[in-house]
Amino acid sequence: MTRILHRQINADLRIASGGKGVELFDRDGRGYIDASGGAAVSCLGHGHPNVIAAMHAQADRLAYAHTSFFTSEVAEDLAERLVADAPAGLDYVYFVSGGSEAVEAALKMARQYFVEIGEPQRSKIIARRQSYHGNTLGALAAGGNAWRRAQFQPLLAETHHIDPCYAYRYREPGETEEAYGLRAAQALEDKILELGPETVMAFVAEPVVGATAGAVPAVPGYLKRIREICDRYGVLLLLDEVMCGMGRTGTLHACEQDGVAPDLMTVAKGLGGGYQPIGATFLSGRIYEAFAKGSGLFQHGHTYICHPMACAAALAVQEVIARDRLLDNVTAMGAHLARRLGERFGNHPHVGDIRGRGLFMGVELVEDRGTKATFDPAWKLHARIKREAMNRGLAVYPAGGTIDGVRGDHILLAPPFIIDAATVDTVVERLGEAVDAAI
Ligand code: PLP
Repeated sequence: MTRILHRQINADLRIASGGKGVELFDRDGRGYIDASGGAAVSCLGHGHPNVIAAMHAQADRLAYAHTSFFTSEVAEDLAERLVADAPAGLDYVYFVSGGSEAVEAALKMARQYFVEIGEPQRSKIIARRQSYHGNTLGALAAGGNAWRRAQFQPLLAETHHIDPCYAYRYREPGETEEAYGLRAAQALEDKILELGPETVMAFVAEPVVGATAGAVPAVPGYLKRIREICDRYGVLLLLDEVMCGMGRTGTLHACEQDGVAPDLMTVAKGLGGGYQPIGATFLSGRIYEAFAKGSGLFQHGHTYICHPMACAAALAVQEVIARDRLLDNVTAMGAHLARRLGERFGNHPHVGDIRGRGLFMGVELVEDRGTKATFDPAWKLHARIKREAMNRGLAVYPAGGTIDGVRGDHILLAPPFIIDAATVDTVVERLGEAVDAAI
């Protein structure tokens, strides 16, 4: 009996009662390797003493002060640290409680920017089909998952979707990665011209697509071309790094590896590592100046923006990642994970593709490797894999399904940055057994 409206009514949820390092424990004492960090959240693992100590200290000092009266040292310190390491030009940051709120704020910043600079006709959003940007109304409008949007469509902002950069599904036979990247980016220019450049506000994309496609990085050159196209038409580039950011791919921000700096960037999950709910929207100095010289405010705000407890947890998480040089471990263990996945699943009859960056890997499942046909209905397979994995002491994230007619079922792996090689081996071994038992 539960009084909670859970995500799925009648879901058979185990009760989590503890966590230490890379493992979670249920009420009966069974352990589960947290191989997807929930949904790419728990970057530092569970129960880290420094983060717990920082949260205690902050609770003793100050748990909350409303931002219309006060700022706090801890929020200012976190902002200072994040901006110092942000992509070029992202000189300011806005703190919220999670990823959807970060995207929502970014969209409103984009809109207000154009109002402030005298281009109020710019309001259209362009985004990509395989994408997830959150479940609040603005973020939902941007996301490409038609199933998620369908019943809420009357409430959503005008958004237009183009194909993502998804080489396994969209690259033509014989086409080089570079040629494919340019072709995929061309879809943005075509869409801008079709809509009328003076009406387009922002292009939204995940540098490495997370939940909807399974850790799909853009091919080399794609995001650079996207940046050029946005600049050519005065469209703001919003990169959503809620899932792939904050070190998950081996660099602090995924877009660093593409050599691209956006105008707006969202982060969340790995920012606080799950210790507190926190997200952030980075904005360029140009956008900040437009607000500062114009209305003098950002017409937005929630009760819990810049929450001191959340900022303290995030600051501690980021300090530990830097102090322990954990991004080096992300790169090393990411390569090890990719190797092991290749050995276990490279010739598997139901695995079409293995891809990702750092400790952010996707294993794409197909019914037929030749035709790339997928399982139907996919959600049943997802549920079976999840259950078989849980029964073997492994928590992984199978997701995907049909998105505007294009399929992509996958298992997402995003373990904590502290994982070691032996645990990676156990993850792959248990996953192999779970997949074989489920299919
Ligand atoms: N953006 C991306 C890329 C995400 O993966 C997610 C969540 O999975 C979100 C936004 C929404 O974040 P949240 O669930 O914290 O609201």
